[in-house]
Amino acid sequence: MLTAEQVKEYALRCGADKVGIGSMDRFEGAPKNFDPRYIMPRAKSIIGMAIRVHRGLLRGIEEGTYFAGYPSMGYANINDVYAPMVVRELASFLEDEGYEALPYINGSVRYGANRGVPVEEGKPAPDVFLHFRIAGVICGLGEIGYSKMFLTKEFGPCQRLVFVLTEAELEPDPVVTGEICDKCMACVRECPAHAISATKQQGACVAGHDISWGDLDCHKCSAVYQAGTKEISPFMPEEIKGYIDKIISEEWKQDGADMVDYTKYKDVWGHLRRNFPYIAAGWESFHHPAALCGAKGCVRACLDHLDKKGVLSRKFKHPFRDRKPWKIQPPAPESGE
Ligand code: SF4
Repeated sequence: MLTAEQVKEYALRCGADKVGIGSMDRFEGAPKNFDPRYIMPRAKSIIGMAIRVHRGLLRGIEEGTYFAGYPSMGYANINDVYAPMVVRELASFLEDEGYEALPYINGSVRYGANRGVPVEEGKPAPDVFLHFRIAGVICGLGEIGYSKMFLTKEFGPCQRLVFVLTEAELEPDPVVTGEICDKCMACVRECPAHAISATKQQGACVAGHDISWGDLDCHKCSAVYQAGTKEISPFMPEEIKGYIDKIISEEWKQDGADMVDYTKYKDVWGHLRRNFPYIAAGWESFHHPAALCGAKGCVRACLDHLDKKGVLSRKFKHPFRDRKPWKIQPPAPESGE
């Protein structure tokens, strides 16, 4: 019989940077359309794997000199190249042992979650969506920070997750919460979109643990995460500057009477893809947008805090940040001479 240790060892050999296992009963209480037991009713275990985002991929953004590494190698390569291979290899290993195994990558969201109609009474609308961060907690990989980012003791906020659902019954890891994030609010202060609420929170009860995170304004984040703001995005076309300002300040909502603008502001991704060449190039080359924000609050400020506090188990020779973050200065007013 296959043991949890054998599965973990194999997953690490396949290229996972961290592995954890959860039992499927830990999904009890999840909304039907987020409950993977409807995907694989005979599944006994969920195996979670963290794939690191190298800290060095943030360095060029910290310096303000190289922005392409993070979206290409930190998003597209992991999501579309590396992680699918790792998760596929592990699923093959399990099926060779006679246990059905379903490799689940974040690409599933691209087809659209819950857009179908239920095929029978009592079933959720397909596609059922696995909530990755909750699943990461269920597998004992780490916790959800105030920023809503998934945090591990090894990599802080710098990893992406993939999963295998399997019929194999494996010893689960303990769920651990509240050990990494101390709610320092650096993510709130440094998010250039002001997308993370300091006061409003959301939460869930996962395997008997009450967890919570700051309410995230996804509209603001999805615009600024791609485009940055005029203070932090060296590639921003002039006409996008006001567009982003309006989204952050919510001024766009007052444009509701103007249906053209209304459509434009609802279709943030399409608008940026059509009108922001750097973002368009990301989509064309990597099927991923740019990430010009460089996750300034939810990743970089968080990483700086966890690094300085010494809570991460992986140590570097130098601190992540040793000076104040840069800002693009507005042009000096003309002297009139
Ligand atoms: S990606 Fe950028 S805009 Fe979105 S929450 Fe993180 S810091 Fe804020």
